[in-house]
Amino acid sequence: MRPTMVAGNWKMNGLSADAVHLTQAILHAELEPMRPEVVIFPPFTLLHAVSQEAKSSALRWGGQNLFWEASGAYTGEISGAMLRDMGCRYVLIGHSERRQIFAESDVQVTQKVKAALLSGLIPVVCVGETEAERAQGATEAVLYRQVEAILPLLNLEASQPNMIIAYEPIWAIGTGLSASPEQAQAVHAFIRGLVAAYSAQLAKRLLVLYGGSVKGNNAAALFDQADIDGGLVGGASLQAGEFIQICRAAE
Ligand code: PGA
Repeated sequence: MRPTMVAGNWKMNGLSADAVHLTQAILHAELEPMRPEVVIFPPFTLLHAVSQEAKSSALRWGGQNLFWEASGAYTGEISGAMLRDMGCRYVLIGHSERRQIFAESDVQVTQKVKAALLSGLIPVVCVGETEAERAQGATEAVLYRQVEAILPLLNLEASQPNMIIAYEPIWAIGTGLSASPEQAQAVHAFIRGLVAAYSAQLAKRLLVLYGGSVKGNNAAALFDQADIDGGLVGGASLQAGEFIQICRAAE
């Protein structure tokens, strides 16, 4: 049995007071001892506030992005060491909004995953196809390209995978139109199969999260699927009650 994880991606939302309120609400929900692992990804400016609230709890937090250099003249960027300094355990890499709006390539995603691993962070790497790619029957080809870009960084010596993959079909993100549990399961099984070509053992242990309009009322059906190990939640992670409901669906 793999553990499960529910991650909340706050995106570019929230001020200090919101961070305190939301973090406290999650802590007060008494999900501890936390099964699933619950992780929040606030904007960089709120990492300190979240860490202060959550530091003696089982709740974890992470950055939404990082740059691959360790330090230097990179105005506006944040390094893995800086995220570690804020107590982050995880970092999101290659979210479709980064890929689409900020033109992040597979090569850059790979550089970021490498930097995250070197910093001691666990990368949560996002992959997923657009609506047009799915309509053209190119879903597997797109995922193959995105996943194969990072798999050489899988540590084959370790007993646990050093990364997490989040499948987020772009047509399902923020649209209210989630993939059906069967659609998502098919892609998750495909991704796990790609990993199995490197290591059958690690493939069995790899967490593959689903993201794209996960809500309180569809989470359980998604998480029931054999290869769906939890969720990466955007919009619904900004509402404490809804997010907690999703966490409970993964218990
Ligand atoms: P959504 O976003 O839950 O609002 O669809 C998911 C994500 O972008 O991670």
